[in-house]
Amino acid sequence: MENMNNDFYLILAGGVGAAKFIEGLANVVRPESLKIIVNTGDDIELFGLNICPDLDIITYTLANLVDKEKGWGFIDESFNSLSILKKYYDIGWFNAGDKDLATHIYRTDLFKQGYTKAEITKKICEKLNVKSHIIPMCNENVETYIDTPKGEIHFEEYFIKECCEPEILNVKFKGIKNAKPVDMVLEYIKNAKKIIICPSNPIVSIGTILRVKGIKKSLIKERKKVYAISPIIKGTTVKGPADKFMRSIGLEASCVGVAQFYRDFLGNFIIDNKDCKLKPKIEELGIKTFCFDTLMTNLNKKKELAQFLINIE
Ligand code: GDP
Repeated sequence: MENMNNDFYLILAGGVGAAKFIEGLANVVRPESLKIIVNTGDDIELFGLNICPDLDIITYTLANLVDKEKGWGFIDESFNSLSILKKYYDIGWFNAGDKDLATHIYRTDLFKQGYTKAEITKKICEKLNVKSHIIPMCNENVETYIDTPKGEIHFEEYFIKECCEPEILNVKFKGIKNAKPVDMVLEYIKNAKKIIICPSNPIVSIGTILRVKGIKKSLIKERKKVYAISPIIKGTTVKGPADKFMRSIGLEASCVGVAQFYRDFLGNFIIDNKDCKLKPKIEELGIKTFCFDTLMTNLNKKKELAQFLINIE
């Protein structure tokens, strides 16, 4: 049994939006004090390899190896293997660089040897010298599919190949009923100094984590120390389809809509200065609301936002 004090932060994260905030956070608190639960609903098997897009984005970011322009993949990447893989497989839409493929090969090899996703994530972090504790939301296989007028499409294919264009009729989280939090995660929720919900897609990044058995229930009990940053500024996303996903389930695509979605467990919410007039509407939900510049365009802004959240009493 792990000896636990409460000198750590528990983070819930998706991919690109989350990674920007986490980079700031790792620069204002000790990286060792971060335990990060990452969405694995985007995971996919392609070319016979196990690919975990969000885990890799967060890992490469904290290893200081991420391509910051793109927000995913390694810096100084080449795509030679992919050019041949595309000849062998009819998967023209997926992009994985040569270095990235090395991660997928290593992960697939370890799966074959019987390691769990959490154990593999830990090994990759050790090899890449990541000091924070990155934890997949579960060890079980969960895959997000979107029902569209064209049929059912895996989230990654919907995102990359279809550019999120088809109408969203329904979102399905295959395998989620069997998904259990990794060992100790519910204890971490109980003991963390603060629980931080990154600016991530509320439906298919954070929403997927919330569906893992026991996670939402545990967060509700700790509501006072749960903090979130809105991924929506002035009614639109900074990047990606979160607004479209919110509207597809009947939510308003705004920081108010995000607050409504999180209201059961959210005690504190940081919205953008540009949305500050919506503060009273969110406070009506019993959520303490703070306004700040949440657009993280450079490392300083990421650090300032992280420091602001850490300083809130
Ligand atoms: P994905 O899994 O790679 O799509 O990434 P996430 O789920 O972590 O994050 C996507 C969300 O991050 C989108 O809704 C964006 O609006 C949000 N986001 C990205 N950059 C920023 C930023 O600088 N500030 C804020 N507030 N949100 C951001």
